[in-house]
Amino acid sequence: MLHSFVQSGRLEVRFVDIANTDAVIAAMNGAAFLWLESPTNPGLEVADMPTLIVAARNLSVGVGVDNTFATPLIQNPLEMGADIVMHSVTKYFAGHSDVIMGSLSTKIPELHARLHEIRKIHGGVPGPYEAWLALRGLRTFPLRFECAQRNALELAKRLSKHPGVSRVRYPGLPEDSQHARAKSFMRGFGAVVSFEVKDGPEKADRICESSHLITHATSLGGIESLWERRRRWPAESTLTPENLIRLSVGCENVEDLWRDIEQAFTNS
Ligand SMILES: *Cc1c(COP(=O)(O)O)cnc(C)c1O
Repeated sequence: MLHSFVQSGRLEVRFVDIANTDAVIAAMNGAAFLWLESPTNPGLEVADMPTLIVAARNLSVGVGVDNTFATPLIQNPLEMGADIVMHSVTKYFAGHSDVIMGSLSTKIPELHARLHEIRKIHGGVPGPYEAWLALRGLRTFPLRFECAQRNALELAKRLSKHPGVSRVRYPGLPEDSQHARAKSFMRGFGAVVSFEVKDGPEKADRICESSHLITHATSLGGIESLWERRRRWPAESTLTPENLIRLSVGCENVEDLWRDIEQAFTNS
């Protein structure tokens, strides 16, 4: 998306590794706005959000955060001083993979008024049925998210001991490179686990095709578990390893999920 704004000459963008705090602060010099996503999709890197937001404030740089992976249950960027927060309502808020919607939140009345005006003029207003589905999903959002998080931690632990897995990325694992940082300001670690398959991308594809309970599909944040090899999509960043599977953990029985993962490794 940002690349297309760059190509049309509408924005100048500096892309930086969000986990590299010094590099992000250096890139803020002369910038108008810091846009960040944390934990990141699908690498599950964690930005040092409190430090970055303070640095941005000091430089009068606005801050926007894509908080889709964390959700407000475990991370509150507006409380930390961000100007605007984005959530894909499609994911955990609606939670049933049956509605496409997004939200922006801000505490700044002038910014809210501008966004409201833009939405009114450009459209993108959800229909009543979609709004009802999202609201219905939202009622169980904390229950679903907490269950999915519990399942995710258990699966991440088991995957990290699986002989077919070369690396697990989940900030909730004590040995994860992002654990200490995430723990210092987040109240949980989310429900997406990414892992790399030792035998390479073809094996990873076959694993995703061999599941019976886990759905082989894009998207995440639904009540049902989904997985896919991200690099099967040409648009995916080349920084994402070819053998990486992103697993969006749902609310199924965790033993059923584990049995499905094990059989998918065995039968692929
Ligand atoms: C899915 C997703 C989006 C896009 O949201 P849609 O509702 O699918 O348009 C943006 N950011 C993150 C982190 C996402 O996972």
